[in-house]
Amino acid sequence: MPDKTLLLVEDEPDLVDLLSFSLEQASYRVESALTGEDGLQAARRLHPDLILLDLMLPGMDGLEVCRNLRHTPELRDTPVIMLTARNAEQDIVRGLEIGADDYIAKPFSTPVLLARIKAVLRRAADGAEPKRVIEAGGVRLDADRHEVQADGETVSLTATEFKLLTLLVARPGRVFTRQQIIDTLHEGFAAVTDRSVDVQVVGLRRKLGASGARIETVRGVGYRFRA
Ligand code: CA
Repeated sequence: MPDKTLLLVEDEPDLVDLLSFSLEQASYRVESALTGEDGLQAARRLHPDLILLDLMLPGMDGLEVCRNLRHTPELRDTPVIMLTARNAEQDIVRGLEIGADDYIAKPFSTPVLLARIKAVLRRAADGAEPKRVIEAGGVRLDADRHEVQADGETVSLTATEFKLLTLLVARPGRVFTRQQIIDTLHEGFAAVTDRSVDVQVVGLRRKLGASGARIETVRGVGYRFRA
């Protein structure tokens, strides 16, 4: 029984056919739209569980579609994975800041896409309520006690480092742009710049020891925690 509905917004018919076939094989129900305008209409009609959104669309492009989705109350929380061209860092950063959940650069393999879809759907289900204790990839954060353990060792973090780590670990695999990190840290964090985010990350990696390598730099885009 297919249980999740995916909406694919993509203007290349061959890719639509190929992806639809692969995703249906993986037991997803797939609906597709060839333009941004049709994609938005389909999203409003279907309320899909996840949207795969090509950025390069004729007419209304993917970023515009994403912005529209995020301004539509009933679709605001629908997960979006952007399909992007390689080296499209600017668009990726903009898309993430508009509210896309993830991206995958073309050409991609079906197993990689399926893994991303699964991860994003899982995060969407997990993210429904904030947790007081977060655990991923050997790192454990206790928000009430303001305690962090990495590989069983207690780590002492500043308030800013704690906030930054919480942001990343709560959504493993999700890339956060520097601007998104700045917005999260803003409170009580003086002189917030891209550079100061990088400095915080370097300090955090060092304190986390072996787990520090799990905070990955995504070149030209931002940072993510690999669980
Ligand atoms: Ca395209």
